[in-house]
Amino acid sequence: MTFAKVKKFLEKVSPLAGITPEEKIILETPQKILQAELEVSGKRYPAFRVQFNNARGPFKGGIRFHPEVDLDEVQSLAFWMTLKTAVADIPLGGGKGGVRVNPKELSKAELEELSRKYVRAFYQDLGPEKDVPAPDVYTTPEIMGWMLDEFEKLTGTKAPGFITGKPLELGGSKVRDIATALGGVYVLEEAAAKLKLEGKRAAIQGFGNAGMNMAKLLREAGYTIIAVSDSKGGAYDAEGLDVDKVIQFKEQQGTIKGFPEGKDISNEELLELDVDILVPAALSGVITENNATKVKAKIVLELANGPTTPEADEILHQNNILVLPDVLANAGGVTVSYFEWYQNQHQQVWDEETVKTKLREKMVAAFGQLWTAYDGSGHDFRTATYVHAIKKVIAAERGRRLRS
Ligand code: GLU
Repeated sequence: MTFAKVKKFLEKVSPLAGITPEEKIILETPQKILQAELEVSGKRYPAFRVQFNNARGPFKGGIRFHPEVDLDEVQSLAFWMTLKTAVADIPLGGGKGGVRVNPKELSKAELEELSRKYVRAFYQDLGPEKDVPAPDVYTTPEIMGWMLDEFEKLTGTKAPGFITGKPLELGGSKVRDIATALGGVYVLEEAAAKLKLEGKRAAIQGFGNAGMNMAKLLREAGYTIIAVSDSKGGAYDAEGLDVDKVIQFKEQQGTIKGFPEGKDISNEELLELDVDILVPAALSGVITENNATKVKAKIVLELANGPTTPEADEILHQNNILVLPDVLANAGGVTVSYFEWYQNQHQQVWDEETVKTKLREKMVAAFGQLWTAYDGSGHDFRTATYVHAIKKVIAAERGRRLRS
């Protein structure tokens, strides 16, 4: 989503958060923007890191490798990370990185070179107490491992807390691989209980780390997965898909499209299915003013960052559809990243149950606070969420000023 749109939404919610015009400028201005061109096999790839706000702790946020990455988008994503860490109530700020590249067109050696060059370009501004990257769209634990190795070589230190989402053997945390989806399930269960929603039919758009694990976890929790999709297309079965078989098919074929035990469905059609829960788990801006009126779900759980445009948001709210916004719904990822960073900084290794219990506590607490702010406020859930998060960020900014 463009940063202009993010700002427009801020225009609407800032007065509700009781902040001054100067504070609004702080809120919408990144503290630092880093840019570079990374050269691999004679081609140059634009790379970015936006350090948006660190009033509440070191900058935190993923790095995405995607052909549509640009500075404006990374800026929006970095802003959302600032709100997300506030919503999750973890002592970190907000940042985001990206490289404009289609990683599917690179060999493994080129991908490693690109990842290492990213760190070489920005490492002086990164580090466990400065700015802590993580995976995002099309970046993996393996890439985090290369980046960690490069950072440690450049700085001559051992600094596992430099990056999260690492492989377990390099100091990664248990549960981090499924954390975004698991956090989403915890939030969904709380919301469904509040709405007394009995129906358990779900459709999921996107089959990367978040979407695929969501399909698995929802299935295990007794939901019926009516449809799933990836960038090439999707599969649909009104009686419910066999999620394990879909995953197997995707692993073999590289796509869900053509899954023999379901009907073909497009990404657009998936959003309009008659389901109880709709989970956009791919890219931003997919629910727009053009299709929002056709959404039939009772709950939209935003596992992707920014899947709903502000115009669509208003339509969904008018139609009594509860949108659980990204900065809450997908905050499980950064929450377990925080646990990973904490374990690294304190030389600890937590077991799976400990991580899951702590994640659940964090997500339930965050949802509870936001529901209290939202319920009866007359505003939509995203507005209530933004107001709550903005107040926390600005409280930290105020706490830092000289009081003479
Ligand atoms: N990329 C994920 C997000 O957008 C995770 C960020 C992190 O773990 O720092 O929330």
